[in-house]
Amino acid sequence: MRLSAFAGNAEVKYELAEAMSRRSLPHAIIIEGDKGCGKKTLAGILASYAVCSAEGERPCGVCSSCIKAKKGIHPDIVTLDGEVSGGLSVAAIREVRTAAYIKPNEAANKVYMLFNCEKMLPAAQNAFLKVLEEPPGNVMFILTAASSSALLQTVRSRSRILTLYPPPPSEAADLLGERFPEMDRRKITEAAENAGGNIGVAAELLQSGGDEDRRLAEEIFGAVFLSAEYPLLLLTSRLASDRSFAVKVLDRLCEITADCLRAALGAKCASEKARRLSDRLSARRIETLLKNARRARSVLDINVNLSFYGTWLSGVLRSDGTGG
Ligand SMILES: [Zn+2]
Repeated sequence: MRLSAFAGNAEVKYELAEAMSRRSLPHAIIIEGDKGCGKKTLAGILASYAVCSAEGERPCGVCSSCIKAKKGIHPDIVTLDGEVSGGLSVAAIREVRTAAYIKPNEAANKVYMLFNCEKMLPAAQNAFLKVLEEPPGNVMFILTAASSSALLQTVRSRSRILTLYPPPPSEAADLLGERFPEMDRRKITEAAENAGGNIGVAAELLQSGGDEDRRLAEEIFGAVFLSAEYPLLLLTSRLASDRSFAVKVLDRLCEITADCLRAALGAKCASEKARRLSDRLSARRIETLLKNARRARSVLDINVNLSFYGTWLSGVLRSDGTGG
């Protein structure tokens, strides 16, 4: 895929296109944004650019390097994923550090893509910092995270941070139409709307056929701001039976809340739906909910007892940040 085909995010694309035309992309780039907003897609475009052998516009998409990159088999593009156990451990990062100084196999550059860096522990980040401090000339590091705030300031300050937002739902719908040509256009438009333009989330909605997790997350969001405690407790108790469902609902809740925060702060990129939901709420209140929802989501990564989770979650989500 070429950079110009990447959805929305005009400012990011402009900056990258400029740097690409000068053949001077930064050594380290952090791509941040919600799940489904295209972080890995953009990382793939940058990686292809770095290994592409074309004289003109890169990535050309047709040279053998671009084709290998697309298939995920280019020897100079290494992917590590924090979602994989030990993927971004200290040992894994030390290996990267050593290998980064060895010259590329066949391309002019080497690329290390580190996905889901919110899972990279401080010790691993410190190990990574050593190579960032003296980066080999022909190596590019591309990190992705929901939020770059998960990374140490020392790592952030040595990287260029790019923030991705979903494109307008209409643009998302056009792209989804190309990806799912056989699907009913009305369904696609609806999914794009419900996902607030987030293409990954919309694609998931279309493929799963249902969006129970999204509906429940929206109901939870609404109930948090009602004065009665009972409806929220009733909703969160529905998470007790199935961990993967609970994870999905919490992911959706974080997405919806982040989108509402953007709306409350007046950002153009927020969806209409988020604008309606956040209508009568202060940005500060939404920010507190986002912090609480992220905390509750991270708790699901450890082996918590799900039968108590609903009750605990109800309390956490209602907390206004003034208590402990
Ligand atoms: Zn190429």
